[in-house]
Amino acid sequence: MYEFAVTPAVTQLRRPGVLITEITPESLADELELAPNDRIVRVNGRTVRDYLDFRFQTAGETELILQVKKPNGETWELEIERGEGEDFGLMFEQIVPRQCANECIFCFCKGNPEDARPSLFVRDEDIRLSFLYGNYTTLSSITEDEMKRIVEQRLSPQYVSIHATDLKTRAFLLGVDEKRADISGKLERLLDNNIEIHAQVVLCPGINDGKILEKTLRDLAAHYPKVVSTAVVPVALTRYNTDERLTRVTPEFCRRTIIGVEKMQKEFRKTLGVTFAFLGDEIYIKADLPIPSRKHYGNYPQIEDGVGMIRSFLNSFKSLLKKLETRKSKEIETRAKAVVQTNRVVVETQSLKINIENVRTHHLAITPKNPKSKIQNLKSLNGTILTGEMFAPILAGQIEKLNSLIGSKLHVLAVPNTYFGGDVAVAGLLTGQDYLAVKDKIKGDFAIIPKHTIKSDEPILLDGMTFENLKTQFDMPVYDLDLQDLIKKILHFSPQ
Ligand code: SF4
Repeated sequence: MYEFAVTPAVTQLRRPGVLITEITPESLADELELAPNDRIVRVNGRTVRDYLDFRFQTAGETELILQVKKPNGETWELEIERGEGEDFGLMFEQIVPRQCANECIFCFCKGNPEDARPSLFVRDEDIRLSFLYGNYTTLSSITEDEMKRIVEQRLSPQYVSIHATDLKTRAFLLGVDEKRADISGKLERLLDNNIEIHAQVVLCPGINDGKILEKTLRDLAAHYPKVVSTAVVPVALTRYNTDERLTRVTPEFCRRTIIGVEKMQKEFRKTLGVTFAFLGDEIYIKADLPIPSRKHYGNYPQIEDGVGMIRSFLNSFKSLLKKLETRKSKEIETRAKAVVQTNRVVVETQSLKINIENVRTHHLAITPKNPKSKIQNLKSLNGTILTGEMFAPILAGQIEKLNSLIGSKLHVLAVPNTYFGGDVAVAGLLTGQDYLAVKDKIKGDFAIIPKHTIKSDEPILLDGMTFENLKTQFDMPVYDLDLQDLIKKILHFSPQ
């Protein structure tokens, strides 16, 4: 089973060459007559496995020899001189993820419906994707080749799922034997080579919580600042996760966890100067306790893992409201001045008893050209923002403030996740069919869905529905926006 899982991944890593997918016109690559479907196999005699290798081996080099395999079987040897920092104008194939050799009891793949799109069953565990996109790996099946590569190419930081430093518990969670679960030597080697680590714990009630969590956080904090931060996120079980070893996360469990971890956070702030161990936003929401302050999160080291996302949104929204308030006051002031000026003209005109129109004080000269102010424009914002059940009450509270400030008619609609079910209530896992199920509840002229429910490189939703197909089933325009996009849109809104 292990070998089956590992072998194709290793083959992918060792596949010679990287495929060119696009060439920028009039670039260096264009001049060299490189073309899509060519494969760069060597740079200065060194094998290229993927675009990271290509970037690494060409970085800072002005004289290069490229070995290129053309689709017709020819091999070209290109000697190149390029200006310092000159770009090749090349786009490459995506990295094919290496897959893991674990059988984690909470693996998200086990929580998918059978008909979920195939990419949801990819158990990626790839140090390259960890470096590039912050994907977590367990390091439990990392090869010597990959270890060397992290160090040599400085693929830092790495995001590592630790789950527990207690070996028995880690092995149990990963579904592997203790020998494979033990990554202490690998971690040490990475840290000794100044590779930074962001750690993650997927918290499973009754398995790696309480004393085991405390030990995990203390063990990791002992390596600060090389272990930069640790995210503790709750296990999310869909209705397809039927493993009896797993227990669902309850509000009471979240409150207990917050109390326990807060003590350590205080201690870490005193000893390390940073919070170091961060709880996922979901834990605070489930516990019905306030989201910590901006200061708590520092520079948001684990925001992509749902840690501090809500605080960051609340702060951005607060500053949006402040800007709109200032804009509103200024517009009121400008209008008041305009009225005073108009009155003055009328008074002067009457006193002179001149019944002719003064061109300089004609009403068009003192009334703004656009008869509606920017704030008035915002009143025409009338639509529905769809989001997950967990975030909906928080978003609704903010949108209510916005509506009462600018007179807009925005609505927030909590969308139940019927596709995955269970306790999945985050916005990011909503599917096309979930949106369609609440279609009749949408009010206004448009609908907004969370951008990250659409695949980043292809306009498709988690249940395989295309975004185009979804849009055709709505009577109004549907936009995909993330929270920061939404804020920008409101700030720069002008009616068509
Ligand atoms: S949770 Fe991650 S590491 Fe564990 S089995 Fe699934 S993909 Fe592999």
